[in-house]
Order: sequence, then C-alpha cells, then structure tokens
Amino acid sequence: MSGADEHAPKRCASCGRLFNWRRNWAKNWESVRYCSDACRRSKPGVRDKALERAIIELLGVRANGASICPSEAARRVEPEDWRGLMEPARRAAGRLVGAGQVEVTQGGRVVEISEAKGPIRIRRGDRFPTIASTIKT
Ligand SMILES: [Zn+2]
Repeated sequence: MSGADEHAPKRCASCGRLFNWRRNWAKNWESVRYCSDACRRSKPGVRDKALERAIIELLGVRANGASICPSEAARRVEPEDWRGLMEPARRAAGRLVGAGQVEVTQGGRVVEISEAKGPIRIRRGDRFPTIASTIKT
C-alpha cells in the first residue's frame, strides 16, 4: 500500500465533511470516523437519519438529474421549525455524498460539499438507492 493512499482524506460520519490525516491519529487512522471531538460527541441521531431519508425520498420521486434544496428535506422533517434544521440537512447531504448516494451541486456543477460556500443543491449520485418499493407516488 502506498503512503499516499493510507493518508487519503476521510469523510466525517457526523458532519459529512472531508478531513485529513493527522499525526496523532497515526496509530488508529483506519478506525477514525469523526473529524473532531465535537462530531464524535454528536453522532447522527434519529432526526439526522430522518433528514437523510427525506433527501432520498424527495429525490426518489423526482426525475433523475433533478435537484432539491436542503431546505426541502428540513421542511419535510420539521415543517414548523425547518430553519433550525438547515445545517443538519447540509450535514445529512454530506454523509450521503460519502455513501455515493447523492451529489452536491452549485450552479449545476458538482462541488465538494466541504468546500462549498453558500447555497447548495442535491441530486442523485451513482449509488442512489432503489426505493420504488418504499415510496408511494
Ligand atoms: Zn465532523
């Protein structure tokens, strides 16, 4: 194995952002899943899983290639207080990017969510799940 691959960036299982190898992780880099102590303390919970599901469900009933705004997923999970879910929805999108299930775009071009500033859109990725059996249209 090459050193470069061993130290390839990982995607945080909480915030969905890419993070880089650090020397203090040298011994256990293979098992590191979170970019920070804060992310390790706030592992995705029920509401975060609901946001991931909402993104998949919303995209599942749209044409392939169509995109949604993270706010649509936030509204689906919390219709009254969706604004408070905007950052969690973005994190959910990042985790789904890590799974290959969605892509994040700005101005119609795929961008890395870790680096994207401002509003993003979400569309199906290469490993978008088949959900025909679970979605009623
Ligand atoms: Zn993180």
